Amino acid sequence: MTERVFNFSAGPATLPVSVLEKAQAELLNYKGCGMSVMEMSHRSKAFEGIINEAEADLRRLLSIPDNYKVLFLQGGASLQFTMIPMNVLPKGASADYILTGSWGQSAFKEAKKLGSIREAATTADTNFNRLPNPEETTLDPNAAFLHFTSNETIFGVEFQDEPGTGDVPLVCDMSSNFISKPVNVSKYGLIYAGAQKNAGPSGVTMVIIREDLLDRVPDGLPAMLDYKNLVKNGSMYNTPPCYSIYICGLVFKWLLDDIGGLDRIEALNREKAAILYNAIDASDGYYRGHSEKACRSMMNVTLRLPSEELENKFVKEATAAGLDGLKGHRSVGGLRASIYNAFPKEGVVRLVEFMNDFQKSNG
Ligand SMILES: *Cc1c(COP(=O)(O)O)cnc(C)c1O
Repeated sequence: MTERVFNFSAGPATLPVSVLEKAQAELLNYKGCGMSVMEMSHRSKAFEGIINEAEADLRRLLSIPDNYKVLFLQGGASLQFTMIPMNVLPKGASADYILTGSWGQSAFKEAKKLGSIREAATTADTNFNRLPNPEETTLDPNAAFLHFTSNETIFGVEFQDEPGTGDVPLVCDMSSNFISKPVNVSKYGLIYAGAQKNAGPSGVTMVIIREDLLDRVPDGLPAMLDYKNLVKNGSMYNTPPCYSIYICGLVFKWLLDDIGGLDRIEALNREKAAILYNAIDASDGYYRGHSEKACRSMMNVTLRLPSEELENKFVKEATAAGLDGLKGHRSVGGLRASIYNAFPKEGVVRLVEFMNDFQKSNG
């Protein structure tokens, strides 16, 4: 390969070329510091500027209200599966989890090790191809929080709106559709997202937490797992993932300045997803989407072909044609096209052309 491919990877995933170019230009000598961001002290003025600007830009992008704290943490979204119940599930209380896929299941499994956790709904019976209807959801009005996964990356199922909770704080794993569209942050108690799907490289996880939930943090937690301690230290209790934070900051600037904000990126994402789903629906059943139409993900498009043999052939030939990373996760099979913010529309058009040609030759 001498050129960049169209990278459909589910994560780590494609980044905006202009961000990579900016990082390249600043690699050896960041803004006259005479060193790269990788080499500078996290206590330096230059890095202080980088992390403060990244936070300010994220706040602007999502219109995060002042009574929310923003953290840049390590350990991936997966560590939040543990930290959330540790910090905001008081002793003796119970929390509700809505399970719409593997990530929600993992969050549920980890939380159960730490307290009383209830399954409020699950769609495991149909291999997570849909969202639960209100009739099959039982919410505990006294729950400490309700956890859900706004977009299940593996199955390609996305909430179109927040589940109703009354006064119960909503906690959301937004890893794979974070900053893909505007979100009303004030509806949430806590939002978390690993960066490597939509916001930057791996190594950093954003946590947005409403201040009053910090009052729940029990004394005596290990310092690295204690939200209150991490907030107090401005995400720098220890050395933060400096370079990952820097790249996330560039991505936030790209969204604000080049794209024009989250309304605009949502429109672009909707357009890309529609091109692909329309091609699936127009294929006379040759391509079959995994998720029900009303729950289709704008970010991860999951589909099957008439046979596993054809699916393998498709992936092999697509890869050779510069359409990379299309093999689906083993729990769904088939193909998965992840088309996050930075994935270009041109790549979706190329995939649809490839799909049409493949169907003609193998129909
Ligand atoms: C990728 C992903 C995770 C896991 O993220 P890590 O950073 O690898 O821990 C969790 N939840 C969702 C929805 C994801 O897409």
